Amino acid sequence: MLGQAYPDAVVELDHTNPYQLLVATILAAQSTDKTINTITPALFAKYPDANALAAAAPSEVEKLIVKSGFFRNKAKHIIGMAQAVVTRHGGEIPRTMEELCGLPGVARKTANVVLGSAMGLDVGVVVDTHVTRLSARLALSTHTDPVKIEHDLMAILPKAQWTPFAHRLIWHGRRVCIAKKPDCDHCTLAPHCPSAFAAVQPKDPSPRAEWNAKQRAARKGTAAAVATSKKPAPKSRSVAKQPRAKRA
Ligand code: SF4
Repeated sequence: MLGQAYPDAVVELDHTNPYQLLVATILAAQSTDKTINTITPALFAKYPDANALAAAAPSEVEKLIVKSGFFRNKAKHIIGMAQAVVTRHGGEIPRTMEELCGLPGVARKTANVVLGSAMGLDVGVVVDTHVTRLSARLALSTHTDPVKIEHDLMAILPKAQWTPFAHRLIWHGRRVCIAKKPDCDHCTLAPHCPSAFAAVQPKDPSPRAEWNAKQRAARKGTAAAVATSKKPAPKSRSVAKQPRAKRA
């Protein structure tokens, strides 16, 4: 069904080789593919491969990726990743899960994206925020931990479907089964979905949802503090600012 709905589903980060997809995927954390696709052309023009990026000045990289959010950390990660690729792998992006996960800023999800979409290797299933949410809604997994969800999906799916299934689920999560308002009326999966038309959807267990909830709570806390705060008392003049006593 998802195959019919999204026969051409692919990763939506623009790239032409594994290096570019690895960098783009690291940058996409807590951002959107659309935003990252506006950043990477200039980044890849200046740093076309791991060797170039390994020698980059962090401040120069930061300027180019500022729109991605958390740009200082991300600059550190992609430069560190490139340096590790140069020193450990001769400048070539490695082709195993273990080696990829040994690079700075790279965990299983990022490694699965690169292995599946840039190298054609079905090593695992990409479990991002959409796959996490939809796996709960479709009752494909009862877990909240991405690695456990991935193992559940790997057990259900034939190996050749690991990569395309994840892309299709991600596309479905972006277009129909939206986090806040799933469009069950127009969902091809509705006849088989245990959460279809449910007044309350299963709690979104993704780390991103948790992060968003924390941000909302922090904003609420700040707003409440501002709303209830009294007019601040006028500052007393500090001792240092008192006029000096005249000497006798
Ligand atoms: S039926 Fe509704 S909850 Fe189930 S997958 Fe479709 S949109 Fe999501």
